[in-house]
Amino acid sequence: MSVMVDIRSVHKSYGTLDVLKGVDLQVRAGEVTVVLGPSGSGKSTLLRTVNHLEKVDRGTISVDGELIGYRRSGGKLHELPERDVLRQRTRIGFVFQNFHLFPHLTVLENVVEAPVNARRRPRGEAEAHARRLLDRVGLADKADAYPRRLSGGQQQRVAIARALALEPKLLLFDEPTSALDPELVGEVLDVLRDLARTGTTMIVVTHEIGFAREVADTVVFLADGRIVEQGPPAAVLDAPEHERTRAFLSKVL
Ligand code: ADP
Ligand code: MG
Repeated sequence: MSVMVDIRSVHKSYGTLDVLKGVDLQVRAGEVTVVLGPSGSGKSTLLRTVNHLEKVDRGTISVDGELIGYRRSGGKLHELPERDVLRQRTRIGFVFQNFHLFPHLTVLENVVEAPVNARRRPRGEAEAHARRLLDRVGLADKADAYPRRLSGGQQQRVAIARALALEPKLLLFDEPTSALDPELVGEVLDVLRDLARTGTTMIVVTHEIGFAREVADTVVFLADGRIVEQGPPAAVLDAPEHERTRAFLSKVL
């Protein structure tokens, strides 16, 4: 299978704080990678570098063979103009912990906003597609509701439909269930399971170990800005090689 995401030797600091200290990670097309790790280990920063919400200090990231944020010429990297970065970003869906829906737009309007404004899709076509996506996440009947009238689980499912509306090559999830009441976690994980089953390439930061065990092709354990361990769930979760991984798992399991 082809490599969809190729992260090479990525370093990222904020001032004197070294957050990513040389991360290498490959994600193959159609695969699900779950990233685990303690709070502050750099998980969000890593996801944010993939769609260039954060610039890396060293190293490179490619998505579907395209260098993110840069072009190479004469052996050197040159920063891409903002419009090219925005174009790259529209091919990478991002789902946040706190949903980030537009509060003043209905559910349907939230989903059609980017296709109509960023992709110049005809509104009728975008709406028809949005309704299919809302149906897919089980919210066909909420198209005209405003986000504040929805539960957290419903809001997160709208956010996923919105991310899918641009038909991304890659979906990034940053703790998509961490802000939810426990009884709402399952409905969101069900949507992620459905996406995984249909071959969506995803990187999911989560503490849901059961989900990781069941759905992940690869589990990555990140600690202190480095990948300590990675491999199939059965290896990393049930027979971790490193003490650091064992200590973390004993706290979250
Ligand atoms: P995680 O998602 O694993 O909890 P983060 O990637 O959010 O970790 O953060 C890693 C470290 O970087 C933390 O110490 C955090 O405080 C710091 N950090 C994250 N974003 C910024 C920022 N924009 N400016 C300064 N420090 C940051
Ligand atoms: Mg985080």
